[in-house]
Amino acid sequence: MTVYPRDVLQLQEKVRSVTDRPIRYVLNTHQHPDHAGGNATLLAANAQILMHKNARANMAERKMPGLPPITCADELAVVLDGKEVIAHHFGRGHTNGDSVIYFPSEKVLHAGDLARHSAIPVRAAASKSGTRPSRKLCNSTTSIRSSRDMVP
Ligand SMILES: [Zn+2]
Repeated sequence: MTVYPRDVLQLQEKVRSVTDRPIRYVLNTHQHPDHAGGNATLLAANAQILMHKNARANMAERKMPGLPPITCADELAVVLDGKEVIAHHFGRGHTNGDSVIYFPSEKVLHAGDLARHSAIPVRAAASKSGTRPSRKLCNSTTSIRSSRDMVP
């Protein structure tokens, strides 16, 4: 998750309010500027940015700054201090490069714009783009709803 470039300082201050450790990893849910727009600033601060390979390709096509050096396909896990954070790609949804980020020890799911407005807008995204979300994504909504908390 990240933010517009103008919001990076506020994000860094928020993180500093809970830890004196640097931001080491940023997992983008997709390439839209309100999620990946702060990448260049965070890369300059030595964070590793990770995102789905399609989202990175979308950023490159649009000549967006802050291209992540690391991409994933269907699943990626980062383990920090014994806690796992897992990024899943279930196929086309809001974009063709969406990832949902799951924090198993907290039972919290960050679904990016797949979960805007307290709903899973799979059908809305499909109707706007004229494309259908993947069956894998539609089937995943059951497991997404079983998470204790979901963060859009
Ligand atoms: Zn978006």
